[in-house]
Amino acid sequence: MFDKILIANRGEIALRVIRACREMGIASVAVHSTADSDAMHVRMADESVCIGPNPSSESYLSIPALVAACEITGAQAIHPGYGFLSENATFVQVLEDHGITFIGPSAAHIRIMGDKITAKDTAKKLGIPVVPGSEGGVPDVETALKVAAEIGYPVIIKATAGGGGRGMKVAQDESTLEVAFRTARSEAKAAFGNDEVYMEKYLQRPRHIEIQVFGDGKGRAVHLGERDCSLQRRHQKVFEEAPGPCITPEQRARIGGICADAMGELGYSGAGTIEFLFEDGEFYFIEMNTRLQVEHPVTEAIFDVDLVREQIRVAAGLPMEFVQEDLKIRGAAIEVRINAEKLPNFSPCPGKITQYHAPGGLGVRMDSALYDGYKIPPYYDSLIGKLIVHGRDRDEALARLSRALGELIVDGVDTTVPLFNALLAEPDIQAGDYSIHWLEKWLARTFG
Ligand code: ADP
Repeated sequence: MFDKILIANRGEIALRVIRACREMGIASVAVHSTADSDAMHVRMADESVCIGPNPSSESYLSIPALVAACEITGAQAIHPGYGFLSENATFVQVLEDHGITFIGPSAAHIRIMGDKITAKDTAKKLGIPVVPGSEGGVPDVETALKVAAEIGYPVIIKATAGGGGRGMKVAQDESTLEVAFRTARSEAKAAFGNDEVYMEKYLQRPRHIEIQVFGDGKGRAVHLGERDCSLQRRHQKVFEEAPGPCITPEQRARIGGICADAMGELGYSGAGTIEFLFEDGEFYFIEMNTRLQVEHPVTEAIFDVDLVREQIRVAAGLPMEFVQEDLKIRGAAIEVRINAEKLPNFSPCPGKITQYHAPGGLGVRMDSALYDGYKIPPYYDSLIGKLIVHGRDRDEALARLSRALGELIVDGVDTTVPLFNALLAEPDIQAGDYSIHWLEKWLARTFG
């Protein structure tokens, strides 16, 4: 086992990893930008290293600075968290060259899944059901028109290098396809420096269902059921739950089994998430994330596992602590993402926290790096906390969420808490009846 792990991240996810390290008797190293010198992860880790100035491109994304920080502190492994360098194959390669262990899958697997066309091809070959669409990239409008005529309108045009919901455009019919195609390409170019796009049938009322997988890198892999992350704004998740309120045990066993077998065959190592759109009882693969997800705690709650501990064990060459038969669902869990954002436009709202009080009690977990007097810097994303509740069933989880939101105090900045209070009053949310378009429609109705 490692003696010391460096965490190449900040905020709540850095704390999440530090906590797992401490329970395992492993020393932790925090890295930070100058803006983050007072951040909670710096205070909580055993050691810290300043790796650069405020912009993440010069600090949290600086591979040389991270390698140097490992060398200075003697850290043997890096946990990347999510975002930043967590899905960067070059980073993994550089670490390998320096004899530092990356806590995550191989560079090769990251590369395969990071390119959406290769990912979809690989998924298909592994027996995972995919959304009908183009075979590979679509080079020009003529081809786009041909593909659309084959798969039928509406269609969605997506960036091969996409992420974070950017570079996606929907065309309802032939007359809007050309504009959608050109816009998607130029957005993709601007956001990812790569204008290649591909096409899929646009599903009308699907749910976003993702399967948590875990592999030991030696051909053994399991699944930990699904999370329903259909409640999205601009393709960004805001509310996630497990198990999915619309998924039957038979559907879970079938798609989970397919995913676990595929990961076993691939020799996948560590945590991963296979994302699907789910409509009329069918699953359609959209992408795979080769890292820990923001919403992993709902899975931890219902399976009573520590996914970060497991990631660290597997990276150290130890076997997984569970087999498929051990993994039984207990109750229901919900996570809400608390962002420092001002409603109704969700504009970022950095600033000083004048008072912070975290909710507690049975079945409540608050993952946050906030503290009284903390100044949220304007340079990074606006997630300031995740509130996760667990109940014996979904109704209990909903009641607990409402109760916990009532206890939470975050003063000094605007947050998305009022959004969740309003959502909990909605019959569709109470019934678990929502598709990926529900939230956008509700926002338009509620805020105009
Ligand atoms: P990203 O990597 O940018 O997050 P994804 O491929 O994961 O892109 O898609 C993000 C979201 O976009 C999905 O959760 C869904 O809401 C929507 N989406 C993607 N593909 C389709 C599709 N074929 N039909 C309908 N909605 C889609």
